[in-house]
Amino acid sequence: MGRKLKTGLLAALALIMFITAAGSAYADQLYLNELLEAAPHLQVLKEGPVMRVVKPKDPEPIVEPEPAPAPAPTPRGKVALTFDDGPDLVNTPKILDILRDEEVTATFFVIGEKAERYPEMLARIHREGHLIANHSQTHADFAELTNEEILAMELEPTSQTVQKVAGYYSMIMRPPYGSLRQDSVTYLREQGWQIVRWSLDTFDWDNSRNSPEEIIERIKTQHHNKAIVLMHCNGPTTIQALPDVISILRSLGYELVAVDQL
Ligand SMILES: [Zn+2]
Repeated sequence: MGRKLKTGLLAALALIMFITAAGSAYADQLYLNELLEAAPHLQVLKEGPVMRVVKPKDPEPIVEPEPAPAPAPTPRGKVALTFDDGPDLVNTPKILDILRDEEVTATFFVIGEKAERYPEMLARIHREGHLIANHSQTHADFAELTNEEILAMELEPTSQTVQKVAGYYSMIMRPPYGSLRQDSVTYLREQGWQIVRWSLDTFDWDNSRNSPEEIIERIKTQHHNKAIVLMHCNGPTTIQALPDVISILRSLGYELVAVDQL
């Protein structure tokens, strides 16, 4: 083999090796590019002439600090939820369900005629720990009655029904419509009656302004220690608003009690 040919072959061989190496590097580069496109989180490390792909270590899990427990609301006192005009078979059981679920004790000012009609519901009110008080026999306007009529026709029959079912003669009364002459106030007090009106009217009895939002707004703006909240057993909005009424009053720091515990 001539020297020239040998040199030529060597040169050709070198050229082939160069092209192969270059092609290989190009291929690696392509591979890396594709890989990085597919997985941009990968890091490329250079170690001398060699390039390799290293998956980063999994980051340390972020440990969220335990959220501090909500501070207990500052005790503000007591509030009594009261429900008038029951018992009935539609709304009273739903109110009782909510009170039971929320572990709230309330006061029911019942109408004697309804208590006679639904003694089982009256018994449930008593069984579940609520206070039963007197809201008259027929929901008459006491301003139209003599003091003796108020006592004989409206208050006594109702408390007798309560006694039959609950075992105690209620001497706590709320006049229908809050209507009571001053001489009747004096007379009933002398007879030992405790007259309980209200200090926070939710207006749940008034269809023109008793949306749950309006009821809740009144609670938020008018709450106070020893508030007596007026609600009724005769409206669906009472039931809609009641869970929020309870949670708002509790978050404000009030203990919910029967009227004889204020
Ligand atoms: Zn009433």
